[in-house]
Amino acid sequence: GGPFLSVRDLRVHFSTEDGIVKAVDGLSFDLGHGRTLGIVGESGSGKSVTNMALLGLHDSRNTTIDGEALLDGQDLLTATQRELERLRGNKMSMIFQDALASLSPYHTVGRQIGETYRKHTGASRKEARDRAVEMLAKVGIPQPELRVDDYPHQFSGGMRQRAMIAMALVCDPALLIADEPTTALDVTVQAQIMDLLKDLQQETGTSIIFITHDLGVITDIADDVLVMYGGRCVERGTKQEVLRAPQHPYTWGLLGSMPSLDHPVDVPLSPIPGAPPSLLNPPTGCRFHPRCAFIEQVGNGLCADAQPPLEVVDGRGAACHLTPAQRVEFFADFAGIQ
Ligand code: SF4
Ligand code: MG
Repeated sequence: GGPFLSVRDLRVHFSTEDGIVKAVDGLSFDLGHGRTLGIVGESGSGKSVTNMALLGLHDSRNTTIDGEALLDGQDLLTATQRELERLRGNKMSMIFQDALASLSPYHTVGRQIGETYRKHTGASRKEARDRAVEMLAKVGIPQPELRVDDYPHQFSGGMRQRAMIAMALVCDPALLIADEPTTALDVTVQAQIMDLLKDLQQETGTSIIFITHDLGVITDIADDVLVMYGGRCVERGTKQEVLRAPQHPYTWGLLGSMPSLDHPVDVPLSPIPGAPPSLLNPPTGCRFHPRCAFIEQVGNGLCADAQPPLEVVDGRGAACHLTPAQRVEFFADFAGIQ
């Protein structure tokens, strides 16, 4: 069959006192059944806004959303709040960076997992409790029969993250959106959580959108990668394509600031100079041009004048005025000097 989630020309604009913020400005992608799409970009690139718009969790008083987001044929962008409530926690689910903000301090972990289950299945309290114990075991909480009656503050940070994953997966969602779920955790716990997500995905076949500012986090889990900059997709492809033969100078910069085996951590990494653009008054032309080292190679002021089109063939493409030959040549130079 076709893609499970198909997003076309998504636009999310906020009205503020200072004007319209074009947080997402024409984003398209597909997600297949059981696949993981990594969405990567700096903060303010529109990643989280995309996620909130898909889930219907944006503030509708000041937000305008255009485009199409078909989940199994149903358009999430035109769904009613009631329909979205039925979908959330059930067919689609989410986990965030901050488990404490997602879990209520006033109820036991088991009750919170169980209530999500009851809401969507109509199960009894007893069945919901059993299911909560089962889920806690599944996410690797030791002694789940005892810990099910703990409150969130009695869990460590890593355990709370596991509990949030248990709550997100309790109804076997077909889509899981994970927004920086490991960012607040230390490296060891982060690796354990990523392993857990991979195992659970293998078991359940859930499709995952994994949102992160750190390309390194998704090198294991992602099948496909979408790089966002300034509210737009600047590059997409399979993980192998984007990591091994990236075509966009912004992606080169992200790779350059990522520790890797052939880039020991005692060598200073090179973050991309400059700051992400304001989406109130975005740069003209290519939104990356104020930070790009390659505008002279394009020449004629084109980078500042004209928005480079994103040409996608078989899911692979980048939005840059450099020619295909230049992209290969300059990336080789760039990688050589790292
Ligand atoms: Fe750099 Fe120009 Fe390509 Fe934008 S279009 S990434 S400014 S070379
Ligand atoms: Mg974010």
